Amino acid sequence: MARYTESVCRLCRREGGKLFLKGTRCYSKKCSFERRPTPPGQHGVRRRKMGEFGIQLREKQKVRRVYGVLERQFRNYFREAETHEGVTGEALLRSLETRLDNVVFRLGFASSRAQARQLVNHGHFAVNGVPTDVASYALKPGDRVEVRESHRTREAFKVIRETLRSHTAPDWLALDAAKLSGSIASLPRRDQMPLDLSEQLVVEYYSR
Ligand code: SF4
Repeated sequence: MARYTESVCRLCRREGGKLFLKGTRCYSKKCSFERRPTPPGQHGVRRRKMGEFGIQLREKQKVRRVYGVLERQFRNYFREAETHEGVTGEALLRSLETRLDNVVFRLGFASSRAQARQLVNHGHFAVNGVPTDVASYALKPGDRVEVRESHRTREAFKVIRETLRSHTAPDWLALDAAKLSGSIASLPRRDQMPLDLSEQLVVEYYSR
């Protein structure tokens, strides 16, 4: 599968804001965007006036990059969101939030979505007791996600146990830090998804 392999900090500079793609580094002084908040490239510092289309495109790219989803897959999420009742933008974000990799991140089992995806791909997690290594796996209310029992003593999860002490999962998830597991209590509402994104612009982008 195609993957973005360049520096992810470049993406924050491109989108003009912190996308928090690198875990703890994003909250430290080492954050590249804090040091150099200009767009990347030789002419990055030049101020460019953006039209309506440009603004919609940039917001779509921002949402896509926050969740680490490739264009075709992202468009599929949008087409599926259109078939849902209610607000399309919110349905889109809900589908992205309930991906297995995102839930692993939100539960605090990884410091970034990229790390969560890697942990899932490496087979460390089970969904409802069944080992699952598909990062895009769509979870639903009642589903239980846990670190597989035989993997719990691994070094990576010893560190995670420590960080979980100060982690608060969002309301729509029920975290059991002692068992390294969590479940989907309900589907997230927009106000339960702490995202500085305008999903309406994404809807407008695809509705042109
Ligand atoms: Fe973005 Fe994080 Fe890199 Fe800062 S450290 S530029 S927030 S990915």
